[in-house]
Amino acid sequence: MTSVTSATAPLLDYDQVIAKYEPVLGLEVHVELSTATKMFCGCANKFGAEPNTQVCPVCLGLPGSLPVLNEAAVESAIRIGLALNCDIAPWGRFARKNYFYPDQPKNYQISQYDEPIAINGYLDVPLDDGTTWRIEIERAHMEEDTGKLTHLGSDTGRIAGATTSLADYNRSGVPLIEIVTKPVEGTGARAPEIARAYVTALRDLLRALDVSDVRMDQGSMRCDSNVSLKPIGQAEFGTRTETKNVNSLKSVEVAVRYEMRRQAAVLASGGTVVQETRHFHEDGYTSPGRSKETAQDYRYFPEPDLEPVAPSAELVERLRGTLPELPWLARKRIQQDWGISDEVMRDLVNIGALDLIAATVEHGASSDAARAWWGNFLVQKANEDGVEVSDLPITPAQVAAVVKLVDEGKLSNKLARQVVEGVLAGEGEPEQVMADRGLAMVRDDSLIQAAVDEALAANPDIAEKIRGGKVQAAGAIVGAVMKATKGQADAARVRELVMAACS
Ligand code: ADP
Ligand code: MG
Ligand code: ZN
Repeated sequence: MTSVTSATAPLLDYDQVIAKYEPVLGLEVHVELSTATKMFCGCANKFGAEPNTQVCPVCLGLPGSLPVLNEAAVESAIRIGLALNCDIAPWGRFARKNYFYPDQPKNYQISQYDEPIAINGYLDVPLDDGTTWRIEIERAHMEEDTGKLTHLGSDTGRIAGATTSLADYNRSGVPLIEIVTKPVEGTGARAPEIARAYVTALRDLLRALDVSDVRMDQGSMRCDSNVSLKPIGQAEFGTRTETKNVNSLKSVEVAVRYEMRRQAAVLASGGTVVQETRHFHEDGYTSPGRSKETAQDYRYFPEPDLEPVAPSAELVERLRGTLPELPWLARKRIQQDWGISDEVMRDLVNIGALDLIAATVEHGASSDAARAWWGNFLVQKANEDGVEVSDLPITPAQVAAVVKLVDEGKLSNKLARQVVEGVLAGEGEPEQVMADRGLAMVRDDSLIQAAVDEALAANPDIAEKIRGGKVQAAGAIVGAVMKATKGQADAARVRELVMAACS
C-alpha cells in the first residue's frame, strides 16, 4: 500500500518494493584530506578557523596567481587508491571544470576529470552478519574543495528564500578525494544496509590510513547516494536519482531506503522517475533538487598551469608499504586478545574508544583497566560535555599513568577519578595533579591508627558492640575513618586496624 507522511512523496511498502524491483546503487564519497596545507597553495588546512583567515591569492583565484601541487596530497591519494585495490595511473593531468558559483572564486574547479589517479579497485566490506560484500570502485580522483556559503533568512538554510549569503573561502582549495563506485547490483533488500556498511568501512579505512578526519558531521566526509530501480529480471538500469550530501552513516541507509520506496511508488503507478539530484532532510526524506535530464557542459580542458601527475613505480611501491592492516581485521584480532564479546566490541567502536583503548594498552595499562576508563568514566565525561571521547583533553599515555598509580597502590579507584578530573581540567600530568590536590593514598599506618583511635573514642557505643563480637558494626568506624582521611586510606587496612584495636 502507498502511504503519505509529512513533506514526503507517496511511498511503497518496502516488502512490495523488493517483490517487484531490484535496486542499483552508486556511491560517491568526497573526503577532505587532513594535509597541513591546501591542494595548490601554502594556506593552512584546518577546520574551524575564523572565516576568510586561511586564504591567499591562489585559493581566492586572484589574477596572475599560480597553483603549486601539494605532494603530500598526492601521496595520500595514492595510498587511498592502493588501499582500495586500485591501479595507480602512471600519468594524468588535472582539468578545469568551468562553472560560475560564488563559492568558487576562480570560476573553475581544478579536478582530475578523465585521468584519475586511481581506477578499477574494490573494497570487501564487512557486514553485520559476519559476511563480506565486494563493492567495486570505479575511480578515486583528486580535486579541490570549494568555499562554504551560509545562507541566512530562509527556513531551510538553503539559498531559496535567503535574504543574505555569506562566503567563507577557508575551505576553498582544500584537497579532496572523490571515490566513486561502479554500479552496485544484486543487493536486493539489503541495499540500504550495504550502502551504509560500505560508507562505514570506507570511513574506518580512511581513518586507519590517517589521511582525513572523516567527520561526516563537519563535512570532511560527504556522501552522495545514487539509487535506481529496475523491474526484476530486466537487464538495463532504471533512471537514477542522486541524493546529495547525506551527512551521517545512518542517513545513508535512510536515504537509500527512502528513494527505493519513493521511486517504486512512482513506477508502480505508471509514472517515470525523473533524473535529478535530491536533497536529504534530517527527518528522513529527500526532496527534488536540480534536474539532471540535460547533462551540464562544464567545458573541461587540461589545466595549463600544472604539470601532469606522474608518480614513479618506486614511489607507489614505497607507499604500498605504508598501508595499515584493514581496521575490521585489526578489530577482530584485538577482540580476541582482549577476550570480549561482539556486543562489548561494538559498543567500544560506536563510542569511538577502540583506538584510544588500544593506545592506552600500548602505554602499559591492562586492557580491562583501559577499557573501564574509556568505556565508562571518560565516555560519560564526553557525554556531559557534548564532545567525542577522542576530543577529551586527556591522552592514552595519561590514562595509562593513572592506571599505573592505581596498580602501585598510590591511588584508590575513587581518588584516581579525581586525578583524571584534574587532568581534564588542565591541571597537568596525573602525578602532578595527585601531588597538587593532595590525593595520594595514606600509606603511613600511624596516621591511620590515629584516625581509628579517634573514631573509636568518638563512638564509644559502637566500639563496645565491636568488642562484644558484632563485627558488622565495624563498618561505621571504617566509614568514619575513610571520611576523616578524605578517602585516602586503604579501607582494607583500616578494617584490620579497627579489628585489632577492638580485640
Ligand atoms: P555524476 O557526475 O552524475 O555524479 P558519476 O559517474 O560521478 O556521475 O557517479 C554516478 C554514480 O552512480 C556512480 O557510482 C555510478 O556507478 C552510479 N550509477 C550509474 N548509473 C546508475 C544507475 N542507473 N543506478 C544507480 N547508480 C548508477
Ligand atoms: Mg558525481
Ligand atoms: Zn591559499
